Amino acid sequence: MSTLWQDVELKKRDRLYGKTKADCTVIGAGMAGLMTAFELEKRGFSVVVLEAGRTASGATAKTTAKITAQHGLIYDKLTSKHGLSSAKLYFESNTQGIDKYERLIREMNIDCDFKRMPAYIYGKNSAYEIRKEAQAADKIGAMYKYTSRTSLPFEVKGALRFENQAQFHPLRFVKAICENLQIYENTPVIDIEDGKVTTMQGEVQTHYIVNTTHYPIINLPGLYFLRQHQERSYCVGVKTEKRLDGMYLGIDEVKSFRNYEEGIIIGGEKHRTGNNSEGGCLCRLRDFANKCYPKGELVSEWSNQDAMTHDGVPFIGRFSVFAPRMFVATGFNKWGMSLSSVASDLIADLICGKKNEYEKLYTPNRVKLRASFSSFAVDAGYSVKGLAEGLLSSKEKRCTHLGCRLKENKDEGTLECPCHGSQFDRDGRVVFSPANKDIRRDE
Ligand SMILES: Cc1cc2nc3c(=O)[nH]c(=O)nc-3n(C[C@H](O)[C@H](O)[C@H](O)COP(=O)(O)OP(=O)(O)OC[C@H]3O[C@@H](n4cnc5c(N)ncnc54)[C@H](O)[C@@H]3O)c2cc1C
Repeated sequence: MSTLWQDVELKKRDRLYGKTKADCTVIGAGMAGLMTAFELEKRGFSVVVLEAGRTASGATAKTTAKITAQHGLIYDKLTSKHGLSSAKLYFESNTQGIDKYERLIREMNIDCDFKRMPAYIYGKNSAYEIRKEAQAADKIGAMYKYTSRTSLPFEVKGALRFENQAQFHPLRFVKAICENLQIYENTPVIDIEDGKVTTMQGEVQTHYIVNTTHYPIINLPGLYFLRQHQERSYCVGVKTEKRLDGMYLGIDEVKSFRNYEEGIIIGGEKHRTGNNSEGGCLCRLRDFANKCYPKGELVSEWSNQDAMTHDGVPFIGRFSVFAPRMFVATGFNKWGMSLSSVASDLIADLICGKKNEYEKLYTPNRVKLRASFSSFAVDAGYSVKGLAEGLLSSKEKRCTHLGCRLKENKDEGTLECPCHGSQFDRDGRVVFSPANKDIRRDE
């Protein structure tokens, strides 16, 4: 399955052989890693980026690339569970994140279809949650409008429009910002310790380490595997003359819409990674797209996944109190574009010893029991079941991360871990972390 973004050829990079040195080592060349590496270089550090596969071949290649501070029903949730000031900080940081993209694109003259446009959330069957989110939007000072008129191909009960959000072509942007970065491709990191990162055939002596592998590949310290799971969704590109007046996200019927050069991208059919053994997600999405745009032509389809935190806020900052020179950006809850931009400034500020007003909101070392207990309990249930089933499974059905039993994703022919979301292709190669080792079918 190919995405609409893979028309861009990125420069091939060498593998790391032997030893090298850098002030900062960034692990993972997705949007979070690349933007952070770019920012660190700008601030005068020497930076090495280590990438297991090709640059931007992970979640970043398969995003729908809306750059927005409107992240579903986030502001009502944040206001009630974390307080109004946290909701305001979340909004401000993501708004600044969008502005940073615009600034870079202007300064570097990057041709990546960046367009300012409104972002909507809509309720197809009920306007209740949309109205509540509108009240939260009011409190945080967002520029918003409540409406029931949209350019969607169906009626909605209510929609909330945030002004001045954006969309772009993510890989054209990546191509420009990674041009002068020192990236090693096909260089999976296999071990991380204070001051040293070890790869298959080399190592980097380094002062600071930034983990941007999408889902952290090490379990200790940090225990990230207890604090997030992964969710998968599907996308189709429909070639059509129709266009929308903004980007859309459905709340009661979770579907995503945005324009691209030749038509409209539709996303949906989300499930916890590892929970699609029956298949049918892509088929249902194609049917939905057909009903929306009967004269359209399906030209592309793909899927993607992201790490979901229990309290709905990503982990950006110091990896652990036990590893002060190690940093992380993960748990983007499917909003990693604006949040990669937030992460790049926040992590660079921490490394420079500069105060950042968003540090406390995003710190991975927060404890918010009230906001996260029910999701924690669900995830713990999956882990106990997955580990128990793993004990009774053959090696080729066991995840190389912690040993949970893998489940087939019928739509893709892949194997997925329902506990922490690792994904393996048909040949047993890791596609998505936290697994960091292929399944050896001959063992
Ligand atoms: C269907 C879908 C649609 C989405 N649409 C949007 C959207 O419209 N707007 C938005 O803001 N967000 C969106 N997202 C989320 C967004 O795509 C992600 O949050 C973002 O791309 C994550 O970027 P990343 O850099 O963290 O991860 P990645 O892009 O996955 O980068 C991580 C990199 O680390 C590498 N890596 C892994 N292990 C190792 C190792 N051991 N050694 C070295 N390298 C390693 C991987 O190969 C990979 O290249 C969407 C997500 C989904 C699922």
